Amino acid sequence: MLDLLLTQVRLQNASAVMDIGVRNGIIDYLAPSEREYKPDALSIEDGMGGMLLPGLVEPHVHLEKAHLLSQMEQEAASLQDAIRMTAAMKHGFTREDMKQRSLAVIREAVRSGVTHMRCHAEVDPILGLSAFESALELKQLVSHALDLQIVVFPQEGIFKNAGTAELMEEAMRLGGDVVGGITYQDTDLQAHLQFVFNLAEKYGKSIDIHTDFSDNPEHLAIVDIAERTIAAGMEGLVSAGHVTSLGSLEHGRAEAVAERIQEANLHIMSLPATDLFINGRADMERKRRGLTPIVMLLEKGVNVVIGVNNVRNPFTPFGKADPLETAWLVAVTAYMGGDSEARQLIRMLTEGAAQALGLKNYGLRLGAEADMVLFSVPTERDILLDKPEQRTVWKRGIKVAETQVAILLNRL
Ligand SMILES: [Zn+2]
Repeated sequence: MLDLLLTQVRLQNASAVMDIGVRNGIIDYLAPSEREYKPDALSIEDGMGGMLLPGLVEPHVHLEKAHLLSQMEQEAASLQDAIRMTAAMKHGFTREDMKQRSLAVIREAVRSGVTHMRCHAEVDPILGLSAFESALELKQLVSHALDLQIVVFPQEGIFKNAGTAELMEEAMRLGGDVVGGITYQDTDLQAHLQFVFNLAEKYGKSIDIHTDFSDNPEHLAIVDIAERTIAAGMEGLVSAGHVTSLGSLEHGRAEAVAERIQEANLHIMSLPATDLFINGRADMERKRRGLTPIVMLLEKGVNVVIGVNNVRNPFTPFGKADPLETAWLVAVTAYMGGDSEARQLIRMLTEGAAQALGLKNYGLRLGAEADMVLFSVPTERDILLDKPEQRTVWKRGIKVAETQVAILLNRL
């Protein structure tokens, strides 16, 4: 007996309309809907021909510094400005306040279809371990709806502020999932990377580094990250966020760097809302977009994924935790307008991001965890263009969110 049979759904790369069954949180049945035999199920739901995706994966978000607009007196004019303004506000963060603002992001993500998320929790002398411990508490609190990975993130630099290295080590000891880094916040790049890679090796964890967040083509810490990844035998276990300098590098040289990124199997996380909002500002004419060179990296076989990064704070005074918003922004700004690009973008939000996060048992296949989101439209391109509000979300086979939309159009 199945717990759930979801009928009449369209899956990626499948021409037939399918039925999908769940038992004990695992996908246990998958067959074309036209088959006459239907297995018994405690609950049967009609998918009405909508597209069913595996749960969306948000690979890069900052929870404890989301939703700060009401505390901001002005807008940030540069990256350093945003870092300074946020650092000042951090002195006033309390655990309850961080929890509530984080939960607002998580609730929006879950109802958007997100079943896995990686957050960067800030660890530094201002917050100590409070943001990290708040994230650990949230991870338990929301575990029925969302798997949360916590990156131990030194936003203020590792060496610029005495005591940060020790706090990072303590956070890893307490259960940090991923070692974070931020190459543009310390002056000694090699010492920074050495510390990050050593910590990851000590705790047997993967790495996720903020890097090369500028328009300066000479900022290429990504090359050092690739070299160290290969030297450490950590191919496939290292992610890098932003990597926008590469978008300003002369094409031939950028391609050579992309090949090195591919050899190291780095996962590149483009964060378009923040990148577009912060970069390019210093250009008085012919303003650069300041984006990660997404298409070029994809062409070189690199796993490129996209994240919301910041939600409504000095770095990005916009944002919703719906990955389709991020995908739409990339579609427009990275010239990804066709049907195959729509499929590629949806793949980034699902399989690609799952790979970056090292998720096991992911995807709509027999034996995988039943993390699923049903849309009311039939194709990936429709999902990208419509960003339909109407969605149903299951985590390990349990329905965790459902949005119904009532529309009244008079005489149309
Ligand atoms: Zn970030």
